[in-house]
Amino acid sequence: MSNRKNPSVVIIGAGMTGIALVVKLREAGITNITLLEKATDIGGTWRENRYPGVACDVPSHAYTYSFEPWPEWDKFLADGSQIHEYFKMVWKKYGVDKVTKLGQLVTSCSFDDNSQQWTIKTQAGDAYTADLLFSATGILHKPAFPNIPGLDSFAGITMHSALWDDSVEFKNKKIGVIGVGSSAVQLIPELIDMPGTDVTVFQRTPQWLVELKNKDYSTKDKAAFRADAGKMARVKKFALGIYQLGTTALTGDSLKDRLMHRLFAWNAKRYLEKSIADPVLREKLTPKYKFGCKRVVMNSTFYPAIQKPNAHLVTEGIEKITPQGIVTKDGKTHALDILVLATGFDPAAFMRPMNFTGRNGLSIDKAWETKIQAYRSLMIPEFPNFFLMLGPNSPIGNYSVIDMSEIQAEYCIKVIQRWQQGGLDVIEVKPEAVAQWRELLKSKMGHTVWKSGCQSWYLDADGDPLTWPDKWASWVKMMREVDFSVFKPGQATEKKAA
Ligand code: NAP
Repeated sequence: MSNRKNPSVVIIGAGMTGIALVVKLREAGITNITLLEKATDIGGTWRENRYPGVACDVPSHAYTYSFEPWPEWDKFLADGSQIHEYFKMVWKKYGVDKVTKLGQLVTSCSFDDNSQQWTIKTQAGDAYTADLLFSATGILHKPAFPNIPGLDSFAGITMHSALWDDSVEFKNKKIGVIGVGSSAVQLIPELIDMPGTDVTVFQRTPQWLVELKNKDYSTKDKAAFRADAGKMARVKKFALGIYQLGTTALTGDSLKDRLMHRLFAWNAKRYLEKSIADPVLREKLTPKYKFGCKRVVMNSTFYPAIQKPNAHLVTEGIEKITPQGIVTKDGKTHALDILVLATGFDPAAFMRPMNFTGRNGLSIDKAWETKIQAYRSLMIPEFPNFFLMLGPNSPIGNYSVIDMSEIQAEYCIKVIQRWQQGGLDVIEVKPEAVAQWRELLKSKMGHTVWKSGCQSWYLDADGDPLTWPDKWASWVKMMREVDFSVFKPGQATEKKAA
C-alpha cells in the first residue's frame, strides 16, 4: 500500500522540469525520489537540439529557475549549449544527480489497483515501484517527419533539426532546408554563412517574425549581475512583462487587448518591410494569416541571411523527393547534397509512445480517444497519483517554460500535502472535473488568435488550442488555488460514508 508519510516518487525525464521537481519536492520534505532519464546525459530539449545556431528566444535571465538566478550568462539570448551547461550545473549543485538514473528509457507505466502503486519498467530491464508518478518528458520532444513522397529515396544526407549529426561536413555543399519555424530561422543563417554552401529554403507558409536582437554580456556586465541580484531580477521581470503583453494580445478580446494585438502585428509588418529590399521576396515572406496564429518567431538573423547571394527561398510547394533532391510543383528539380528537415514536432505525444495504463489496464490512448486532455493540464481520471507535467493546455509557446514548470510543481505539492495529511484518499480527479475544465477552455478559446484560421502545432485534431487559451496572469491565478472538491473521495472515504 502507498506510504503517505514518506512516499516513493518516480519522475520520468531529467530535463528542466524533472530537475525543478526534485528540488521543489525535497523542499516540501519529500525525499524518496528516483529520477529516470532515457539518455546518458541530462538536459532534455537542450541536450537534443544541437543544430548550429540553437538558442533560446526567451532572454537568459528569464530562462532561469527562481531558486538559481545565474550571473554567468554569456548572452542576452543564451546559446543552447550554455543553457545545457546551466541545467547540468543546477543538477549537480542541488544534488539531483544523486537520485538520477541515466540510460533508463521507460517503456511502460502501470497502476495497480490493489497496491495503489505504479510499476515503471525500462528498456534496460529494470523495474521501479512508486506511490507517486510524474511524467516530465517535455512537450516538443518527438520529431515530426514530413509526409512527402520519396523522402526515404534521397541519396544524400537527411537530418532532422532535433536529431543533428555533428559529424556531417557542410562546407561547399548544396543544402536544402524544409521549414521556416523557430528552429529553421536559427539554423538557416548559420548554414548560409558556412564556407561555400548554397542553401535553398523550402517554405510552405510564411511566418510572422518579431525582431529580437541578441547581445553579448561583457565581463563588466556579469560582474554587475554578480554584485546585484536585483539587476538580474529586473531583467527577468522586464522580459517576462513583454511576454505577458504578448499573451494578452494573442488571447484577449477587450479593446485594450485588440489594440495590443494590432501594435504587435504592425511592428512585425514594419520589421519585414524595413528588412527585405526586394518586393518579390518580401511578398513571398508576407504571411496571409493573423499575427500570432502560428507561434511567433523571434529572431534578427533570418531576414538578412535569406537575402545573401548563396540563399534561395522556394515557395512553389514540394511535389516529391528523389535521390537527387527536391522536385517542386513547378516541375523544377533542386539538386541537393544535404536535406535538413526543420519540420517541428508532434505536440500531442506527451509521455507516449510509452505503454501507459491506469486503473483496470485503461491505456492512455483509450483515455484520450476522443480528446487529449487533463484537468489543469496535470491530472487524468483513472490515472491516480499521477501528474503529467506540461500536459495539454499548459501555456506553452508563449512564455518561459521554466516558470510554468515551477508553478505546476508547486500546485502538485499542495495536492500531495493534502493527500499526505489524509485529506484525500487518492489523488484522482473526478471525470466531471475534466468536463468542467473543458467548458472553461471552450469559453476562452473562441477569441484566441489561434482559432483565426491557420494551421499550427498549437491546435489539436479538433482545431482547439492545445495551449492555455487565455492570459498568463489568469493561468497563474488559477494555478495558485487548488479546488479540492474535484478529487474523487476514494475508497476509505466511501467506506466511511457507507
Ligand atoms: P515548427 O514551428 O512546427 O515549424 C515547422 C516548419 O516546417 C514550418 O515552417 C512548417 O510549415 C514546415 N513543414 C512541416 N511539414 C512540412 C511539409 N510536409 N512540407 C513543407 N513544410 C513543412 O517547428 P520548429 O521550428 O522546430 O519549432 C517548434 C516549436 O519549438 C516552436 O514553435 C517553439 O515553440 C519551439 N522552439 C523554440 C525555440 C526557442 O528559441 N525558444 C527555438 C526553436 C523551437 P507550415 O508552417 O506550412 O506547417
